[in-house]
Amino acid sequence: MIDLHIHSNHSDGQCSVKQILEMAEQLKLSHISITDHEFISAYDELASLDVAKLYGGKIITGVELSTNYNGHLIHVLGYGFDVAKLSKSNLVSRENFDKNFYAKLLTQYKKIAKKLNLKFNDNLTRTHFAPDHTLYFEMIKYPENKPIFENFGIVHKGHYYWDHIRNPKSPFYVDLLKYIPTFAEVAGAIRDAGGLLVLAHPDKAIAEQFAQSGDFDGFECMHRTFTKEYSDYLVKLCKKNKLLVTGGSDYHGYPVEKLGYVFYGEGQVSENFAKDFLSRVGGDK
Ligand SMILES: [Zn+2]
Ligand SMILES: [Zn+2]
Repeated sequence: MIDLHIHSNHSDGQCSVKQILEMAEQLKLSHISITDHEFISAYDELASLDVAKLYGGKIITGVELSTNYNGHLIHVLGYGFDVAKLSKSNLVSRENFDKNFYAKLLTQYKKIAKKLNLKFNDNLTRTHFAPDHTLYFEMIKYPENKPIFENFGIVHKGHYYWDHIRNPKSPFYVDLLKYIPTFAEVAGAIRDAGGLLVLAHPDKAIAEQFAQSGDFDGFECMHRTFTKEYSDYLVKLCKKNKLLVTGGSDYHGYPVEKLGYVFYGEGQVSENFAKDFLSRVGGDK
């Protein structure tokens, strides 16, 4: 079994790289990829570990980058790239992320929160990878914010992000597309570093739109939040359009998720399922 979509604490995952390797070993996964959001620093850490002692399977380099594709916020998985080459790109630089994404967005979120009379410490320290998480967990500390949040139906961070920040009709709305790189920039950087491009966890509309675009080498066809039926549909679409298929849990270390498991914990991804992909990224044995 394999898992090609895993987040570590180098982005928004809860587990360290070492813990992920130990879990993967326990599950006897033959191939894994740590695909942190925006960063590839997990691979620097891996280089400093005695990996062979912790995990006997193969590790395929990976990253999950947010991109602006003609006005759509698309998650792109880059795989099998050369770490040293991709490291040179501004797209995976922590400084660039902190300055052009984290800091700018946090300022924007704060401006809105102030307008809505929400209380928070203006000099708040970063507690989370994403600026919306940092501000959300700061704001819920103050009981006086509770009725304001309740008024908007916000009872957890998911509501704050999906129902409000991402919703053009909400006063919390921020156009994230202004802060993220274009698909062309991301695709160029991954390809220059010798990597493949996989469309992450596509919904049906996105999958149909991109199946014939020629922009991707493959689609992620198995995922924690997919049903078997939906996965079968994606595989068929990929076959028809000569796209590679991959699969992974998109594990972040939260209790509802299971490393190595897809279909809401009911299925796993076999090596055979992604054999064409694995042979392209040098992961075949
Ligand atoms: Zn994603
Ligand atoms: Zn992910």
